[in-house]
Amino acid sequence: MRVIVLGAGVVGVASAWFLAADGHEVTVVDRQAGPAAETSQANGGQISVSHAEPWAGPGAPLRALKWMGREDAPLLWRWRADPAQWAWGLRFLRQCTAARAHDNIRAIVGLGLASRAALQALRRELALEYDQLERGILHFYTDGREFERALPQAELMRKYGCERLPRTAAECIAIEPALANSRLAIVGGTYTASDESGDARRFTELLAQRASARGVAFHFGAAVAGLHSQDGRVRGVQLADGSSLTADAVVVALGSFSPLLLKPLGLRLPVYPAKGYSATLFLPDGVEAPTVSLTDDGCKLVVSRLGQTLRVAGTAEFNGYDTALNPVRCEALRRRIVDIFPGLAAVQRIDYWAGLRPATPGNVPLIDDLARRGFQGLWLNTGHDTLGWTLACGSARVLAAQMAGRDPEIDPRPYRLA
Ligand SMILES: Cc1cc2nc3c(=O)[nH]c(=O)nc-3n(C[C@H](O)[C@H](O)[C@H](O)COP(=O)(O)OP(=O)(O)OC[C@H]3O[C@@H](n4cnc5c(N)ncnc54)[C@H](O)[C@@H]3O)c2cc1C
Repeated sequence: MRVIVLGAGVVGVASAWFLAADGHEVTVVDRQAGPAAETSQANGGQISVSHAEPWAGPGAPLRALKWMGREDAPLLWRWRADPAQWAWGLRFLRQCTAARAHDNIRAIVGLGLASRAALQALRRELALEYDQLERGILHFYTDGREFERALPQAELMRKYGCERLPRTAAECIAIEPALANSRLAIVGGTYTASDESGDARRFTELLAQRASARGVAFHFGAAVAGLHSQDGRVRGVQLADGSSLTADAVVVALGSFSPLLLKPLGLRLPVYPAKGYSATLFLPDGVEAPTVSLTDDGCKLVVSRLGQTLRVAGTAEFNGYDTALNPVRCEALRRRIVDIFPGLAAVQRIDYWAGLRPATPGNVPLIDDLARRGFQGLWLNTGHDTLGWTLACGSARVLAAQMAGRDPEIDPRPYRLA
């Protein structure tokens, strides 16, 4: 089949790789000059099956209310005159029951485990080097109530196969000795030895190079304006410069922008941008910084060591497609990381960045065949939210299996458009 993949973020590039491996003739189209230039660019760097707890849960509405209007809040909802935002917000509220949170954790862990294994196999097969560290992920807590709340979540993840184990404060410090100097007392944590970290952008660039060597065509600098369809079948895409490309199938992997392309077809995707921030700290020689990837769960921050830099990322702001940097939120990131690792106050260069997570109401991505909705040849691989890199390889395999008419390695039903 001739397949066009829309989007060269980590999800689009992984899709292209696994589709090409099945023998399809694949073309990737992206408006940017190269791969991973938008949300996949400077994320938290975690391959974290253990981060499977969705934002939506029984305590989420109260917490979001408490944080409303606070410029430095970990999760900030800014009301907009935007029906898509309100519709998404209502769907989010419906995911806030214990039963929905349970199902969403099961779906994320299932895909996450398959995805992490697929990424590891790909790394071995292609000898990829992207500052990866296989030292696990430590969730640590500075608030006793947050820690207590996390333990049943970790237990649930263990039930579905993610070995996220409770640890005392002393054990946390033994796992990551740089935590010993924290100005905030660590009350405990959970550790997932099988999770890992690395540079998602580098990974995506390398995979794109290998895909290109395997025959995948990349059209960069090409903005997609619409889809061509005829008699209920998608035939190709219309580019903004007036040209068009034809194909037997089109995969939409445009991250947060996926709903905008599908809206004219009458398809309303429950995907809304959740803006997140990252800070990349350039470490001077001798400064004490962690090497184990960390999650500061109370503040919703993640920390990954990428060579001689430290990536700190997190927070979510629901405010449309704006990616401008808010100095208050940048400073909140810096202040928190210096509180935990006081030696980092010596860092001179910090690069800030903001990206738009393609958020779904329950954090579960959408991998689906839109033939079910009357569009033959149109496929979705989007809505990967907080875990796009963690879930990319598994999602691409689930997509490729379905496009080839094979049974995927995991049950694909939780990832279908409801
Ligand atoms: C602060 C932050 C920290 C994060 N930390 C982690 C982490 O530690 N681990 C993890 O697994 N995930 C993390 N994520 C989430 C992860 O980065 C995303 O889920 C993932 O990058 C989404 O990938 P994508 O390919 O779907 O989207 P993108 O990377 O945004 O790719 C979409 C592509 O579509 C292109 N595009 C859009 N519209 C058009 C158009 N009209 N025409 C042509 N091209 C178009 C864009 O140029 C872009 O290249 C984090 C996200 C953020 C913001």
